[in-house]
Amino acid sequence: MDVRWEEAGWERLTGRAGRRRLPVWDCTVGLVVGDDSTLLIDPGSGVREGAEVRAEAERLTGRRVTHIAFTHGHFDHVLGGSAFAGVEFFGAVGLDRLLATPTGREELRASAVRHGLDAAEAAQAVELVRAPRHLVSGEWTLELGGVQVLLANVGPAHSQHDLAVFVPGERETVFCGDLVEESGEPQAGRDAVPGQWPAALDRLLSLGGEDALYVPGHGAVVDAGFVRAQRDALAARFGVAGGPTGA
Ligand SMILES: [Zn+2]
Repeated sequence: MDVRWEEAGWERLTGRAGRRRLPVWDCTVGLVVGDDSTLLIDPGSGVREGAEVRAEAERLTGRRVTHIAFTHGHFDHVLGGSAFAGVEFFGAVGLDRLLATPTGREELRASAVRHGLDAAEAAQAVELVRAPRHLVSGEWTLELGGVQVLLANVGPAHSQHDLAVFVPGERETVFCGDLVEESGEPQAGRDAVPGQWPAALDRLLSLGGEDALYVPGHGAVVDAGFVRAQRDALAARFGVAGGPTGA
C-alpha cells in the first residue's frame, strides 16, 4: 500500500508502525513513528546490518532514530544496536548484565559465529553494542509524540529477558519477539523457560486483544488465533499443566 516503504522492503502495518524481515535469519525489525521520536525494535544482527536499518529508517521517516527496544538478548535481535549512538536503549531487566559482562558478551559472540555471522563482525558488534540503560521490570509507557507505546516484560519464556512492544493504532500492533514464530517451530534454547512460555503468550493475548496484528520474531504477521494455537502447542510440547485459557 505504501509504495515508498514497500520499495525499500518494508511492510507498513498501520499509520504508525511497520517492519521488515531481514535477510539470512529472517529476523523482524520493527519501526514505530511518533511525531517527535522514532523507535526501532530489534535493529538487526550486526554492525553492517544495523547501519543499513538505521539509514532506511531515517530515509522513510525523515528523522533520526531516537529509541531502540530489544525484545530479547539473542544475537540476531541485538547486535544491530552496535550501529547506533546517542539513542535511548530499552530492554527487560537483566538484559543489561547479559550485554555488559564478559561472560554474557562472549556467549553472544560465540552464538553469532555459530549461526554464521562473520567472526570479525561478531567481535566488533559485541564490542560496540550498548547495554540498555532503561530496564523494564513490569510495564513502561513510552511517549513518542502522538503515540504511546507500551513495553511489557513478559518473560522469562523464550529467553531470560523477553520484552513485548504494544503499539496502539487503527489496529493494535504487538511486536512479540521470538515468543511467537511463524516461519518455523518456536526455538527453545538452553536459556528458555518452557514452563512459563504458555503464560507469556496468554499475557500477549490479554494485552493485545482479539483484533491485534501480532508480529513474530521470525515469519509473517499473524492473528490472535495463531498465537492461541501456538500457545496450546507449546503447552502440549512442554507438558505444561492446565488447559487453554479460552480467552
Ligand atoms: Zn531468540
